[in-house]
Amino acid sequence: MCDRNLPKGSDLVATEDRNPYDIVRRQLREATEQLNLPPSVYEILKQPLRFIEVSIPVQMDSGELRVFTGFRSQHNDVLGPTKGGIRFHPDVTPDEVKALSMWMTIKCALLGLPFGGGKGGIICNPKELSRRELEGLSRGFIAALAQVVGPDKDVPAPDVYTTPQVMAWMMDEFSKTLSRNQFGLITGKPIVLGGSRGRSEATGRGCVETVLAAAKKLNMPIDGARVVVQGFGNAGSVAASLLRGHGAKIIAVSDSKGGIYNEHGLDPLAVLSYKEQHGTVVGFPGTETITNEELLALECEVLVPAALENQIHADNAHKIRAKIVAEAANGPTTPDAEQILFENGVFVIPDVLANAGGVTVSYFEWVQNLYNWYWSEEEVNHQLGLKMNQAFEEVYAMREKHNCTMRRAAYMVAVARLAEAMRLRGWLERNTAVWRS
Ligand code: GLU
Repeated sequence: MCDRNLPKGSDLVATEDRNPYDIVRRQLREATEQLNLPPSVYEILKQPLRFIEVSIPVQMDSGELRVFTGFRSQHNDVLGPTKGGIRFHPDVTPDEVKALSMWMTIKCALLGLPFGGGKGGIICNPKELSRRELEGLSRGFIAALAQVVGPDKDVPAPDVYTTPQVMAWMMDEFSKTLSRNQFGLITGKPIVLGGSRGRSEATGRGCVETVLAAAKKLNMPIDGARVVVQGFGNAGSVAASLLRGHGAKIIAVSDSKGGIYNEHGLDPLAVLSYKEQHGTVVGFPGTETITNEELLALECEVLVPAALENQIHADNAHKIRAKIVAEAANGPTTPDAEQILFENGVFVIPDVLANAGGVTVSYFEWVQNLYNWYWSEEEVNHQLGLKMNQAFEEVYAMREKHNCTMRRAAYMVAVARLAEAMRLRGWLERNTAVWRS
């Protein structure tokens, strides 16, 4: 089985390495090797084609000037403009942003979207910034990147702790720079400014499509299935409510402050309004407070990690008692943990598939902006369902053929597509620099 036979003596990973950049490079290398592709494919994919660091001076409410650091990684644009979110988080690092941009390349190729992979991040704690300061930071970041982003170059979107409002400020600032409206610069905008119907629910909805598809393959009914959701942000809360709508029982959810458990099931919408009032899910009436580690170890049918990277690792993977793990977050499972889950028969739907609903509806938003023709929510959800199910089936077929994990299969589908595009564009044969927009 492919993941049991990881190449020995890897030059990238000695013991468990939780650096996402090392992890994605290893994932890419193994996929290119298994596909018997020429080494030049990995040589091009193993780092971003462009990585930019910017300093963003912001005048704080106190009058003091603070300079924030931001990054944008444009990993690969062989299939189209680079695409991917911007996160605001105190722990953002260059390696994390690079890795996230590489996962976007895989995600877009896997879903058959005409995009490459990009990602951005600013080191900051948005919870400590006023609305005015957040606006200054958002405008400053996009102004610093104005030369290298745009509807046909690099199209940002929301990610951890960024919102439609942040997208609106960025779109406005960029439009001012160009003296014309540029709605297609960025996706995840408010609907009145060219946002797509269904975009804010898309990551959670796409994740649920993959859970339903996986449950069908495993002959596991979703009606009555116990679901645990780690991370009750946009993706996690939407996935929880939709799964409840399919008859599942949401027995536990958590956020950065802790988790809550009720074996009889929770109403995700009631939990969401509690969280909006109290800033956390912890303390929701009728629940037992649990730690994140206890939550991950709960016996359930479906576990949805919807928080940050590296939550399931070598030290806790053996405690997971879910049948399906659906990765709504990016990079929640380390490779060593995945090996343990694989040996324990857990069906992992990898991030590049499970959370690809967000970028898929971002693609629909970009198309709507370019055409100035707006779709109904029904149309968006219908097209999203088609794309998610097609990608799921392609990955599942690859998994059956190679008897490997769904993640390896997803990488193989995506990398084969990227390699073919690079070959046809002549990127693999010549020694000249790769073309950049
Ligand atoms: N941040 C999301 C992701 O990681 C969405 C990206 C997008 O819509 O471009 O997939």
